[in-house]
Amino acid sequence: MFELDNVTLRHGDRAAIDAVSLAFPTGSVSAVIGSSGSGKSTLLRLLLGLELPDVGEVRIDDVPLQASDVLAVRRRIGYVIQDGGLFPHLGVRDNLALLPHMLGWSDARIDERADFLASLTHFPSDALRRFPAELSGGQRQRVALMRALMLDPPALLLDEPFCALDPIVRHELQDELAEIFRSLDKTVVLVTHDVAEAAFLASRLILLRDGRVVQDGCVDDFMERPADPFVSQFIAAQRQLPGRTR
Ligand code: ADP
Ligand code: MG
Repeated sequence: MFELDNVTLRHGDRAAIDAVSLAFPTGSVSAVIGSSGSGKSTLLRLLLGLELPDVGEVRIDDVPLQASDVLAVRRRIGYVIQDGGLFPHLGVRDNLALLPHMLGWSDARIDERADFLASLTHFPSDALRRFPAELSGGQRQRVALMRALMLDPPALLLDEPFCALDPIVRHELQDELAEIFRSLDKTVVLVTHDVAEAAFLASRLILLRDGRVVQDGCVDDFMERPADPFVSQFIAAQRQLPGRTR
């Protein structure tokens, strides 16, 4: 569904994404991992047309992406940014309604979809009336996810959706997200710096370093056939309980 063909994107004289070619087939769930600054968020922004490559081409369903496509793309791709990105002055329901409203959905249709997604994400439906500041971190991330799913887009891009959550809520949401991926059959690209989270949610891992793909494969490839010493180092750096192996 998504394809980057030899894409380079520079900020100043530094390449945030450096000669990357990747394809994300329809219905696949992929995780992009890597240290902070490795280019993960930039990769998602390129897939959404929020950044345009200096070199190479991004294609969605074989059609090259252009600056003028951004709005059309947003209807077809749900996007959850790193901190959720909810509008603080709007209640939950109105945050969810923004895009559908622009597309002319009736209030009844918006409410019906919001109720469905609240039950899908285990969000208490009486909290649809609250403001983001009146929610817990986990609830805010559920709203961000619901908002990304409002238009039932065929694809979902998630940028470190759980990074601000405590471990128990994070674990709960990971379980729910796995279930949602299974039941909704969407093309998903998830960004995380947590290898365990990536391996739990995605069948394919893509490790970035300095804007380049170091390894692209399943978790067994990473563990047993590391493409580069950095792969082993990155995996080993995920701290385990002292004296235990996973
Ligand atoms: P990640 O999401 O993996 O932490 P990013 O994709 O956000 O990494 O950033 C990749 C690199 O590009 C980093 O070195 C970052 O500092 C740089 N960068 C990102 N956005 C900008 C920008 N708007 N202007 C200049 N440099 C940027
Ligand atoms: Mg990022």
